[in-house]
Amino acid sequence: MLKAIINAKIIFEDKIAEDLVVIYDDNISQIITKDELVSYDNIETIDIDGAYLSAGFIDIHIHGSGGADTMDATFDALHIISNTILSTGTTSFLATTMTMSKDKIIGALENISSNKNRVTGAKIIGVHMEGPYINPAMCGAQDINYIQSPSFEIIDEYHDIIKMITLSPEVEGGYAFIKELEEKYPHIILSIGHSNANYEEATKSFDAGISHATHLGNAMSGFHHRNPGVLGATLNSNITCDVIADLIHTHKTTLELFWKIKRDKLILITDSMRAGCMKCGEYSLGGQKVIVENGKAVLENGKLAGSVLKLNEALKNMTKNTDMDLIDVVKSVTVIPAKKLGLNAGRIEVGLSADMVIFDESFDILMTIIDGKIKYTKGKQCSDG
Ligand SMILES: [Zn+2]
Repeated sequence: MLKAIINAKIIFEDKIAEDLVVIYDDNISQIITKDELVSYDNIETIDIDGAYLSAGFIDIHIHGSGGADTMDATFDALHIISNTILSTGTTSFLATTMTMSKDKIIGALENISSNKNRVTGAKIIGVHMEGPYINPAMCGAQDINYIQSPSFEIIDEYHDIIKMITLSPEVEGGYAFIKELEEKYPHIILSIGHSNANYEEATKSFDAGISHATHLGNAMSGFHHRNPGVLGATLNSNITCDVIADLIHTHKTTLELFWKIKRDKLILITDSMRAGCMKCGEYSLGGQKVIVENGKAVLENGKLAGSVLKLNEALKNMTKNTDMDLIDVVKSVTVIPAKKLGLNAGRIEVGLSADMVIFDESFDILMTIIDGKIKYTKGKQCSDG
Protein backbone atom coordinates (compact mmCIF):
# COMPACT_ATOMS: atom_id res chain seq x y z
CA MET A 1 0.00 0.00 0.00
CA LEU A 2 1.16 3.52 -0.75
CA LYS A 3 2.09 5.68 2.19
CA ALA A 4 2.04 9.44 2.61
CA ILE A 5 3.97 11.56 5.07
CA ILE A 6 1.96 14.60 6.05
CA ASN A 7 2.70 17.70 8.15
CA ALA A 8 6.40 17.53 7.39
CA LYS A 9 8.94 20.25 6.89
CA ILE A 10 10.62 18.68 3.88
CA ILE A 11 14.27 19.53 3.38
CA PHE A 12 15.16 19.80 -0.30
CA GLU A 13 18.49 20.90 -1.76
CA ASP A 14 17.35 24.49 -2.11
CA LYS A 15 14.35 24.96 0.18
CA ILE A 16 12.34 23.68 3.12
CA ALA A 17 8.70 23.09 2.14
CA GLU A 18 5.88 22.88 4.67
CA ASP A 19 2.94 22.37 2.34
CA LEU A 20 3.94 19.24 0.50
CA VAL A 21 3.26 15.54 0.97
CA VAL A 22 5.67 12.74 0.08
CA ILE A 23 4.02 9.61 -1.30
CA TYR A 24 6.05 6.43 -1.51
CA ASP A 25 6.18 2.67 -1.63
CA ASP A 26 9.74 1.31 -1.99
CA ASN A 27 10.55 4.44 -3.93
CA ILE A 28 9.34 8.00 -3.67
CA SER A 29 6.46 7.96 -6.14
CA GLN A 30 4.95 11.45 -5.87
CA ILE A 31 5.42 14.77 -4.17
CA ILE A 32 2.07 16.56 -4.08
CA THR A 33 0.28 19.34 -2.23
CA LYS A 34 -1.88 18.59 0.76
CA ASP A 35 -5.02 19.44 -1.23
CA GLU A 36 -4.19 16.85 -3.86
CA LEU A 37 -4.07 14.12 -1.21
CA VAL A 38 -7.89 13.95 -1.05
CA SER A 39 -7.96 12.29 -4.46
CA TYR A 40 -6.03 9.32 -3.08
CA ASP A 41 -7.86 6.54 -1.32
CA ASN A 42 -6.35 3.40 0.08
CA ILE A 43 -3.29 5.26 1.30
CA GLU A 44 -1.70 5.09 4.74
CA THR A 45 -0.88 8.52 6.13
CA ILE A 46 1.88 9.17 8.64
CA ASP A 47 1.41 12.50 10.41
CA ILE A 48 4.79 13.68 11.65
CA ASP A 49 3.44 16.77 13.33
CA GLY A 50 5.72 19.45 11.94
CA ALA A 51 8.99 17.50 12.21
CA TYR A 52 11.69 17.66 9.55
CA LEU A 53 11.90 15.11 6.76
CA SER A 54 15.05 14.68 4.72
CA ALA A 55 16.80 12.08 2.62
CA GLY A 56 18.53 9.47 4.80
CA PHE A 57 22.06 10.26 5.91
CA ILE A 58 25.10 8.65 4.28
CA ASP A 59 28.25 7.95 6.34
CA ILE A 60 31.31 7.42 4.15
CA HIS A 61 33.65 6.65 7.05
CA ILE A 62 32.43 4.37 9.83
CA HIS A 63 34.26 1.41 11.36
CA GLY A 64 31.68 0.22 13.80
CA SER A 65 28.88 0.85 16.27
CA GLY A 66 26.78 -0.99 18.82
CA GLY A 67 29.79 -3.03 19.98
CA ALA A 68 30.60 -4.37 16.49
CA ASP A 69 33.38 -3.51 14.03
CA THR A 70 33.81 -4.09 10.29
CA MET A 71 37.11 -5.84 11.06
CA ASP A 72 35.26 -8.47 13.13
CA ALA A 73 34.53 -9.87 9.66
CA THR A 74 31.27 -11.55 10.60
CA PHE A 75 27.74 -11.15 9.30
CA ASP A 76 26.60 -10.39 12.85
CA ALA A 77 29.01 -7.47 13.13
CA LEU A 78 27.77 -5.87 9.91
CA HIS A 79 24.18 -6.53 10.92
CA ILE A 80 24.66 -4.89 14.31
CA ILE A 81 26.34 -1.81 12.82
CA SER A 82 23.68 -1.53 10.12
CA ASN A 83 20.85 -1.66 12.66
CA THR A 84 22.47 0.43 15.41
CA ILE A 85 23.09 3.46 13.23
CA LEU A 86 19.45 3.70 12.20
CA SER A 87 18.98 5.68 15.42
CA THR A 88 21.44 8.28 14.09
CA GLY A 89 19.48 8.79 10.86
CA THR A 90 22.00 6.89 8.75
CA THR A 91 20.42 4.91 5.91
CA SER A 92 23.59 3.92 4.06
CA PHE A 93 27.29 3.71 4.75
CA LEU A 94 30.71 2.62 3.60
CA ALA A 95 31.90 -0.15 5.91
CA THR A 96 35.39 1.04 6.74
CA THR A 97 38.39 -1.24 7.19
CA MET A 98 41.59 -0.49 9.12
CA THR A 99 45.32 -1.05 8.72
CA MET A 100 45.64 -4.64 9.93
CA SER A 101 47.28 -7.76 8.52
CA LYS A 102 46.58 -8.61 4.89
CA ASP A 103 44.62 -11.68 5.97
CA LYS A 104 42.43 -9.64 8.32
CA ILE A 105 41.69 -7.05 5.65
CA ILE A 106 40.86 -9.78 3.13
CA GLY A 107 38.65 -11.48 5.73
CA ALA A 108 36.72 -8.25 6.27
CA LEU A 109 36.34 -7.62 2.53
CA GLU A 110 35.25 -11.19 1.87
CA ASN A 111 32.65 -10.90 4.61
CA ILE A 112 31.29 -7.62 3.24
CA SER A 113 31.23 -9.04 -0.26
CA SER A 114 29.11 -12.03 0.80
CA ASN A 115 26.91 -10.33 3.36
CA LYS A 116 26.40 -6.71 2.40
CA ASN A 117 22.95 -7.32 0.96
CA ARG A 118 21.78 -9.42 3.92
CA VAL A 119 21.80 -6.67 6.55
CA THR A 120 18.35 -5.30 7.37
CA GLY A 121 19.20 -1.82 8.64
CA ALA A 122 21.23 0.89 6.95
CA LYS A 123 22.46 -0.22 3.52
CA ILE A 124 26.10 -1.10 2.94
CA ILE A 125 26.97 0.74 -0.25
CA GLY A 126 30.54 -0.51 -0.31
CA VAL A 127 33.87 -0.39 1.42
CA HIS A 128 36.14 2.43 2.46
CA MET A 129 39.66 1.02 2.87
CA GLU A 130 41.46 3.22 5.40
CA GLY A 131 45.05 2.14 4.93
CA PRO A 132 47.15 0.04 4.85
CA TYR A 133 49.02 2.19 2.25
CA ILE A 134 49.72 5.09 4.57
CA ASN A 135 52.64 6.96 6.08
CA PRO A 136 53.86 5.52 9.41
CA ALA A 137 54.61 9.08 10.55
CA MET A 138 50.86 9.82 10.52
CA CYS A 139 49.46 6.44 11.53
CA GLY A 140 47.11 7.92 14.15
CA ALA A 141 45.18 4.95 15.51
CA GLN A 142 46.13 2.71 12.58
CA ASP A 143 48.52 -0.02 13.71
CA ILE A 144 51.98 0.99 12.47
CA ASN A 145 53.09 -2.66 12.33
CA TYR A 146 50.71 -3.44 9.50
CA ILE A 147 51.36 -0.49 7.21
CA GLN A 148 52.10 -1.87 3.73
CA SER A 149 53.69 -0.61 0.54
CA PRO A 150 51.24 0.26 -2.24
CA SER A 151 49.99 -2.91 -3.91
CA PHE A 152 47.11 -4.05 -6.11
CA GLU A 153 46.97 -7.47 -4.52
CA ILE A 154 43.87 -6.85 -2.39
CA ILE A 155 42.31 -4.20 -4.61
CA ASP A 156 42.28 -6.32 -7.78
CA GLU A 157 40.30 -8.98 -5.97
CA TYR A 158 37.75 -6.67 -4.33
CA HIS A 159 37.56 -3.63 -6.64
CA ASP A 160 33.84 -4.15 -7.18
CA ILE A 161 33.00 -3.40 -3.54
CA ILE A 162 35.75 -0.88 -2.77
CA LYS A 163 34.41 2.64 -3.24
CA MET A 164 37.07 4.64 -1.44
CA ILE A 165 40.70 4.25 -0.34
CA THR A 166 42.48 6.49 2.14
CA LEU A 167 46.19 6.51 1.34
CA SER A 168 49.35 8.63 1.45
CA PRO A 169 50.81 9.70 -1.89
CA GLU A 170 54.29 10.54 -0.58
CA VAL A 171 55.32 6.98 0.30
CA GLU A 172 57.62 5.14 -2.10
CA GLY A 173 55.82 4.35 -5.32
CA GLY A 174 52.81 6.38 -4.17
CA TYR A 175 52.26 8.57 -7.23
CA ALA A 176 52.61 5.77 -9.75
CA PHE A 177 50.21 3.71 -7.64
CA ILE A 178 47.63 6.51 -7.58
CA LYS A 179 47.86 7.06 -11.33
CA GLU A 180 47.45 3.37 -12.05
CA LEU A 181 44.58 3.04 -9.58
CA GLU A 182 42.82 6.00 -11.17
CA GLU A 183 43.18 4.48 -14.63
CA LYS A 184 42.26 0.94 -13.66
CA TYR A 185 39.43 1.67 -11.25
CA PRO A 186 38.06 5.16 -11.88
CA HIS A 187 35.02 4.43 -9.67
CA ILE A 188 37.20 4.25 -6.54
CA ILE A 189 37.55 7.58 -4.73
CA LEU A 190 41.18 8.14 -3.79
CA SER A 191 41.52 10.14 -0.61
CA ILE A 192 44.61 11.63 0.95
CA GLY A 193 44.90 10.74 4.61
CA HIS A 194 47.31 9.55 7.27
CA SER A 195 49.73 11.55 5.17
CA ASN A 196 52.78 13.63 5.98
CA ALA A 197 53.07 15.11 2.49
CA ASN A 198 54.13 18.72 2.19
CA TYR A 199 52.01 21.23 0.27
CA GLU A 200 53.70 20.55 -3.06
CA GLU A 201 53.53 16.77 -2.71
CA ALA A 202 49.85 16.92 -1.76
CA THR A 203 49.00 19.25 -4.65
CA LYS A 204 50.84 16.97 -7.06
CA SER A 205 48.78 14.03 -5.79
CA PHE A 206 45.55 15.89 -6.67
CA ASP A 207 46.78 16.02 -10.28
CA ALA A 208 47.61 12.31 -10.11
CA GLY A 209 44.12 11.29 -9.05
CA ILE A 210 43.48 12.11 -5.40
CA SER A 211 40.07 13.80 -5.23
CA HIS A 212 39.23 13.79 -1.53
CA ALA A 213 40.81 14.28 1.91
CA THR A 214 40.03 12.06 4.89
CA HIS A 215 39.15 13.54 8.31
CA LEU A 216 40.57 16.93 7.42
CA GLY A 217 43.05 18.16 9.99
CA ASN A 218 43.47 14.78 11.67
CA ALA A 219 46.40 12.44 10.89
CA MET A 220 47.83 14.75 8.23
CA SER A 221 50.49 17.45 8.02
CA GLY A 222 48.88 20.59 9.42
CA PHE A 223 48.86 24.17 8.29
CA HIS A 224 51.91 26.32 8.93
CA HIS A 225 52.17 29.62 7.11
CA ARG A 226 55.55 28.66 5.64
CA ASN A 227 54.64 25.00 5.20
CA PRO A 228 50.93 24.66 4.52
CA GLY A 229 50.92 20.84 4.48
CA VAL A 230 48.15 18.51 3.34
CA LEU A 231 45.69 20.67 5.22
CA GLY A 232 46.69 23.83 3.34
CA ALA A 233 46.74 21.98 0.01
CA THR A 234 43.23 20.62 0.59
CA LEU A 235 41.86 24.00 1.60
CA ASN A 236 43.48 25.64 -1.43
CA SER A 237 42.04 23.12 -3.92
CA ASN A 238 38.75 21.95 -5.37
CA ILE A 239 38.90 18.48 -3.88
CA THR A 240 36.17 17.34 -1.52
CA CYS A 241 36.96 16.47 2.08
CA ASP A 242 35.34 15.21 5.23
CA VAL A 243 35.53 16.15 8.86
CA ILE A 244 34.79 14.57 12.24
CA ALA A 245 32.62 17.29 13.78
CA ASP A 246 32.63 15.96 17.34
CA LEU A 247 34.44 19.03 18.78
CA ILE A 248 37.15 16.64 20.02
CA HIS A 249 38.94 15.84 16.76
CA THR A 250 38.38 19.35 15.49
CA HIS A 251 38.04 22.69 17.28
CA LYS A 252 34.85 24.63 16.62
CA THR A 253 36.76 27.51 15.04
CA THR A 254 38.43 25.05 12.68
CA LEU A 255 35.02 23.68 11.73
CA GLU A 256 33.91 27.22 10.98
CA LEU A 257 36.97 27.82 8.79
CA PHE A 258 36.56 24.52 6.95
CA TRP A 259 32.96 25.40 6.16
CA LYS A 260 33.84 28.92 5.01
CA ILE A 261 36.45 27.56 2.62
CA LYS A 262 35.10 24.20 1.44
CA ARG A 263 31.31 24.86 1.28
CA ASP A 264 29.71 22.22 -0.96
CA LYS A 265 32.94 20.19 -0.91
CA LEU A 266 32.53 19.39 2.79
CA ILE A 267 31.11 16.07 3.99
CA LEU A 268 30.40 15.14 7.61
CA ILE A 269 31.50 11.69 8.79
CA THR A 270 31.56 9.91 12.13
CA ASP A 271 34.70 7.72 11.92
CA SER A 272 32.84 5.86 14.65
CA MET A 273 34.44 2.78 16.19
CA ARG A 274 32.65 -0.09 17.87
CA ALA A 275 31.76 1.90 20.99
CA GLY A 276 29.46 4.14 18.94
CA CYS A 277 26.00 4.21 20.56
CA MET A 278 27.43 2.27 23.56
CA LYS A 279 28.39 3.00 27.18
CA CYS A 280 31.82 4.19 28.35
CA GLY A 281 34.42 1.46 28.93
CA GLU A 282 37.13 -0.57 27.25
CA TYR A 283 36.85 -1.55 23.59
CA SER A 284 39.22 -2.31 20.73
CA LEU A 285 40.00 -0.78 17.36
CA GLY A 286 42.11 -2.47 14.71
CA GLY A 287 43.41 -4.89 17.33
CA GLN A 288 44.40 -2.16 19.79
CA LYS A 289 42.86 -1.43 23.20
CA VAL A 290 40.69 1.70 23.32
CA ILE A 291 39.32 3.51 26.36
CA VAL A 292 36.04 5.38 25.87
CA GLU A 293 35.22 8.13 28.32
CA ASN A 294 33.25 11.38 28.07
CA GLY A 295 32.55 10.99 24.36
CA LYS A 296 36.22 10.44 23.59
CA ALA A 297 37.91 7.23 22.37
CA VAL A 298 41.67 6.97 22.97
CA LEU A 299 44.40 4.36 22.70
CA GLU A 300 46.44 3.56 25.81
CA ASN A 301 49.08 6.02 24.58
CA GLY A 302 46.48 8.78 24.58
CA LYS A 303 46.09 9.03 20.78
CA LEU A 304 42.54 9.56 19.53
CA ALA A 305 41.16 6.25 18.28
CA GLY A 306 38.22 6.92 16.03
CA SER A 307 35.19 8.55 17.54
CA VAL A 308 31.91 7.73 19.20
CA LEU A 309 30.19 10.49 17.28
CA LYS A 310 26.68 9.93 15.96
CA LEU A 311 26.00 11.38 12.55
CA ASN A 312 22.94 13.35 13.69
CA GLU A 313 25.08 14.92 16.43
CA ALA A 314 27.62 16.00 13.81
CA LEU A 315 24.85 17.93 12.06
CA LYS A 316 23.81 19.49 15.34
CA ASN A 317 27.40 20.46 16.19
CA MET A 318 27.86 22.14 12.82
CA THR A 319 24.67 24.20 13.05
CA LYS A 320 25.60 25.28 16.57
CA ASN A 321 29.22 26.17 15.88
CA THR A 322 29.28 27.41 12.29
CA ASP A 323 26.89 29.41 10.13
CA MET A 324 25.82 26.29 8.24
CA ASP A 325 22.03 26.23 8.10
CA LEU A 326 19.74 23.22 8.13
CA ILE A 327 19.82 22.79 4.35
CA ASP A 328 23.64 22.99 4.36
CA VAL A 329 24.17 20.36 7.06
CA VAL A 330 21.67 17.97 5.55
CA LYS A 331 23.34 18.33 2.14
CA SER A 332 26.71 17.51 3.68
CA VAL A 333 25.46 14.03 4.62
CA THR A 334 23.09 13.41 1.68
CA VAL A 335 23.47 15.17 -1.67
CA ILE A 336 27.21 15.78 -1.45
CA PRO A 337 28.37 12.26 -0.45
CA ALA A 338 25.84 10.70 -2.88
CA LYS A 339 27.24 12.79 -5.72
CA LYS A 340 30.78 11.96 -4.73
CA LEU A 341 29.99 8.24 -4.76
CA GLY A 342 28.10 8.52 -8.03
CA LEU A 343 24.85 7.37 -6.41
CA ASN A 344 21.47 8.47 -7.63
CA ALA A 345 20.36 9.03 -4.04
CA GLY A 346 20.52 11.54 -1.22
CA ARG A 347 17.53 13.61 -2.28
CA ILE A 348 13.79 13.65 -1.68
CA GLU A 349 12.90 13.19 -5.32
CA VAL A 350 10.39 11.14 -7.31
CA GLY A 351 11.90 7.88 -8.51
CA LEU A 352 14.59 7.58 -5.85
CA SER A 353 14.58 4.94 -3.09
CA ALA A 354 12.43 5.97 -0.15
CA ASP A 355 15.41 6.24 2.22
CA MET A 356 14.30 9.00 4.55
CA VAL A 357 14.79 10.32 8.03
CA ILE A 358 12.49 12.31 10.29
CA PHE A 359 13.96 14.45 13.07
CA ASP A 360 13.09 17.29 15.41
CA GLU A 361 14.59 20.77 16.04
CA SER A 362 17.36 19.20 18.18
CA PHE A 363 18.30 16.67 15.49
CA ASP A 364 16.84 13.86 17.60
CA ILE A 365 15.95 11.11 15.15
CA LEU A 366 12.25 10.25 15.35
CA MET A 367 12.00 7.81 12.48
CA THR A 368 14.27 6.19 9.89
CA ILE A 369 12.80 4.72 6.72
CA ILE A 370 14.65 2.51 4.27
CA ASP A 371 13.17 1.46 0.91
CA GLY A 372 9.84 2.69 2.25
CA LYS A 373 9.92 0.55 5.41
CA ILE A 374 10.03 2.06 8.88
CA LYS A 375 13.20 0.62 10.38
CA TYR A 376 13.52 2.80 13.45
CA THR A 377 11.06 4.74 15.57
CA LYS A 378 12.24 6.69 18.58
CA GLY A 379 11.38 4.87 21.78
CA LYS A 380 10.36 1.69 19.96
CA GLN A 381 12.45 -1.43 19.45
CA CYS A 382 10.46 -3.00 16.68
CA SER A 383 10.28 -2.27 12.99
CA ASP A 384 7.89 -3.21 10.23
CA GLY A 385 10.32 -5.22 8.20
ZN1 LIG B 1 38.79 5.84 10.45
